[in-house]
Amino acid sequence: MNFENTLSFAKEMDASDPLHPLRKEFLFPQQNGKPFIYLCGNSLGLQPVSAREVMSKQLDNWQNLAVEGWFEGESPWMYYHKELKKLMAPIVGARAEEVCPMNTLTVNLHLLMVSFYRPDQKRFKIIMEAGAFPSDQYALESQVRFHGFDPAEAIIEIAPRAGEYTLRTEDIINTIADHADDLALVLFGGINYFTGQCFDMAAITKAGHEAGAIVGFDLAHAAGNVPLQLHDWQVDFACWCTYKYQNSGPGGIGAIFVHENHFTDNSMNRFAGWWGYQESIRFKMEKGFIAEPGADGWQVSCTQVMPMALYHASLLIFEKAGYMDPLRQKSLKLTAYLRFVIEQVNSALGFQQYQIITPAEDEQHGAQLSVIAKGDAKGIFNQLVANNLLGDWREPNVIRFGPAPLYNSFEDIYHTGKLLLQVCQEEAL
Ligand SMILES: *Cc1c(COP(=O)(O)O)cnc(C)c1O
Repeated sequence: MNFENTLSFAKEMDASDPLHPLRKEFLFPQQNGKPFIYLCGNSLGLQPVSAREVMSKQLDNWQNLAVEGWFEGESPWMYYHKELKKLMAPIVGARAEEVCPMNTLTVNLHLLMVSFYRPDQKRFKIIMEAGAFPSDQYALESQVRFHGFDPAEAIIEIAPRAGEYTLRTEDIINTIADHADDLALVLFGGINYFTGQCFDMAAITKAGHEAGAIVGFDLAHAAGNVPLQLHDWQVDFACWCTYKYQNSGPGGIGAIFVHENHFTDNSMNRFAGWWGYQESIRFKMEKGFIAEPGADGWQVSCTQVMPMALYHASLLIFEKAGYMDPLRQKSLKLTAYLRFVIEQVNSALGFQQYQIITPAEDEQHGAQLSVIAKGDAKGIFNQLVANNLLGDWREPNVIRFGPAPLYNSFEDIYHTGKLLLQVCQEEAL
């Protein structure tokens, strides 16, 4: 595609973008009476206009039905998660029975590891990416210790080669194969939060299984960002948060995937609670846990209606967008345009002021570009924010821009390029 770094070109791109009208379904934060250019959907997605209405409806239900709301009303709370399951499944390429909204991400990672990380003296190792999101590192280390193993021995981190920022698939696959004798689990991010690299989840799953291991993914940055086929890829389990690309609000509800291959495995450990108990007889309140079939059997506490209502508002917009294929088509163009305008800024300045560390190949990135800013990186970032551009900052010198195809426009990207140039020219004065 031939991009142009002009406002008229950006406006033409927006005019021919079938998803552009969805922008109006979101609320943009403001500063000094002007909306931000918001490129931070990778961290916290924007509020759907409809979020207030769905919350207000649930407050009405609570007010008018109170405890009867569990079984009465338009959409009784007892079964509310089933509506979400149907809407969520296409986002991650799963069957509705294989997904369930519940808890929050790191909590779910722990719950799933109780079931899927079953080390013994022979197979106890976990392979993960170096530089994974800290919560994942802490969760894995504590799980390993919980089973009486030493994280330094049990956790194998795959790091980029010297002088490189991202991982090569061959290095991941080879490391997995090298550990075919002692590997219990491969636990990878779908997309690395820092570099924005999207991993080859199908290849990693296949390699993990060939090595005799279980394969799970943390999809915090992948779910709602890139098309996923968790079922077809035979991924064993996954979990993700929904407040990033899926706009469910701060601390929004998390979600899990468990492949149906595991539904009949009764030997599986779990940390059980009453909400994972078989639904039809849950209120008999009897002794002896019997799991509800499917992902729902991993629920622990009673379902979180308010956070689900917020997530529901956003899921309906995904449905309206036609789910991940149209979103991905736009996302690839939007991110490519961002890459183009950043390179234009570098050309105008005559040096690589902004170094993009996210891989350029389509299949190796989602909606995020991570950029190393040379010189006073933090000063540049602060100037961008002062000028109404909100990306996010990662120590020591990385700015992440995450153009979300649901609500970002090509015009946003054009203005981003202009600002990236402007703040450097001002800096130089
Ligand atoms: C955002 C993110 C988290 C956050 O976990 P919470 O439990 O929702 O706070 C964890 N892991 C990864 C990879 C993330 O990107």
